[in-house]
Amino acid sequence: MARLSYKLGDFDLVVRRSKTGLGLFAESEIPKGSCIIEYFGPQLTAEEEEKSRSKYLFEVHSRKTIDGALRKNTARYINHSCRPNCEPNIYKGRVYIHSLRRIRPGEELNYDYGTNYFNEFLKGICACEKCKPTAGKRRPLAKKMAAKKVAKTKKRKAA
Ligand SMILES: [Zn+2]
Repeated sequence: MARLSYKLGDFDLVVRRSKTGLGLFAESEIPKGSCIIEYFGPQLTAEEEEKSRSKYLFEVHSRKTIDGALRKNTARYINHSCRPNCEPNIYKGRVYIHSLRRIRPGEELNYDYGTNYFNEFLKGICACEKCKPTAGKRRPLAKKMAAKKVAKTKKRKAA
C-alpha cells in the first residue's frame, strides 16, 4: 500500500446491530487506504494493565497499552474479522484504523484482532462473517501473528 496518511478523514459512520452484537458501519463510501478513525483511550500503568478485565486493551507498543473501553471511543465497536476490510496502524504512539480496500456504504468495518485476542476471548473459535458458514472455525493457535508488525490486542497475563 502507498504511504499511509494519518490525518483523519471525515467519513459518515454509524454504530448499529451487526450479526455479532453492535458494529461500526460505513454510511458513505470509504476509499482504499483512508485513515478512518482513531482507536483511543487512557494509557494504563503496568499494574492497571495486569488487573484489567477490559476486552478493549490495545498494545500500542511494549511500554504502552491503552484501554479503549470508553463509549466515545467509537472505534471500539469495530468487530473482529479473519478477512478484514481495515487494519490498525500505529503512528506517534497512537492507533489509527485504515481501510485495506474500498468500503461501500452499508458495509461493516472490521479488522483482525490478532491471535492473542483470539486465544484469550474467542477461545480459538471464530464467528466472524468469513468463518460463520462453517459454524465457527478453529484457527491455528498463536502462530504467524507474532511476527506481524502491527500491534496486537494485548494478551492479559494470568493472575
Ligand atoms: Zn473468523
